[in-house]
Amino acid sequence: VSSVEGCLFCGIAAGEIPATVIRESERTLAFRDINPAAPTHVLIITRDHYDTIGALAEGDPEGAAELLREAAAVAEAEGVGSGWRLVSNTGPDAGQSVFHVHAHVLGGRPLSWPPG
Ligand code: 5GP
Ligand code: ZN
Repeated sequence: VSSVEGCLFCGIAAGEIPATVIRESERTLAFRDINPAAPTHVLIITRDHYDTIGALAEGDPEGAAELLREAAAVAEAEGVGSGWRLVSNTGPDAGQSVFHVHAHVLGGRPLSWPPG
């Protein structure tokens, strides 16, 4: 599905909702999280709407690969290449709050394990 009515990240992808976009590719967009959990906290989304990372991988494998490449490129560009984390919360029990696929790139501080 290319766009879902009322979806926040579809709105950002369409340029209808403002965001601090730092990188774009054919299928993806990277912008800063509005409520950062680390000095670097960037969200990578696909322009097309998929609910979850699994749905994206099923529906558009090349889009999923592009999202991963872009996440790594963002980490390098942000200067956190030596220590960053990719997170894609999936489902309400994991804290997914926006049901448009996104990967969090987190870095710029020590990242503990296991996550909460
Ligand atoms: P989730 O909770 O689904 O894993 O991640 C959603 C993320 O989107 C959260 O980290 C939240 O801070 C971020 N977010 C929610 N609304 C907005 C918004 O309007 N703009 C931006 N840039 N980020 C948002
Ligand atoms: Zn959407």
